[in-house]
Amino acid sequence: MTEGQIKAIEAVDTIIRYIESIDGDLREGLSRTPERVIESFKEIYSGYEDDAQEILSATFNSEGYDGIVLLRDVEFHSVCEHHLQPFSGKAHIAYIPVDKIVGISKLARLLDMHSKRLQNQERLTESIVDDLQRIIQPLGCAAIVEAQHGCMRCRGVSKQNAVMVTSSMRGAFFDKPQARSELMQLINQ
Ligand code: ZN
Repeated sequence: MTEGQIKAIEAVDTIIRYIESIDGDLREGLSRTPERVIESFKEIYSGYEDDAQEILSATFNSEGYDGIVLLRDVEFHSVCEHHLQPFSGKAHIAYIPVDKIVGISKLARLLDMHSKRLQNQERLTESIVDDLQRIIQPLGCAAIVEAQHGCMRCRGVSKQNAVMVTSSMRGAFFDKPQARSELMQLINQ
């Protein structure tokens, strides 16, 4: 058996033990659940396979455009690393180019890369601007993330509608109130 096959069997075995600890035994309705869970993990945690440098590598000449580029209302799903509960919502990602722009779908792919990992919302927000800053070196970049957390909706304080908002601003969005307020206007349009 290959190392990968052994790991896959161990992963299924772990889920079997997890289910047994909750429900006693692996009755009929649960019998194929471990395999399905592991299969779903491939997608839910696929962000570990991706690389920001690769995602943002293809750039185009900005042809003098030096305004805000904003991708608004991009939905995402992630898993909170504290409770292994889903959290999901939308992100707004913006930057002000210097000479180079990226394909707009790349911003969504960057969000997917970070959200398809075990996360906390603060790190998710910060990681997006870290990568933009490091790789495309814009005049400014920003991420604002709004999300509802399963760990808060179905346990603990049980608040169904609370939305957590996090933001991270760099460069002009951090230093210049005018750039920041223009961004907020575009997001709230
Ligand atoms: Zn949580």
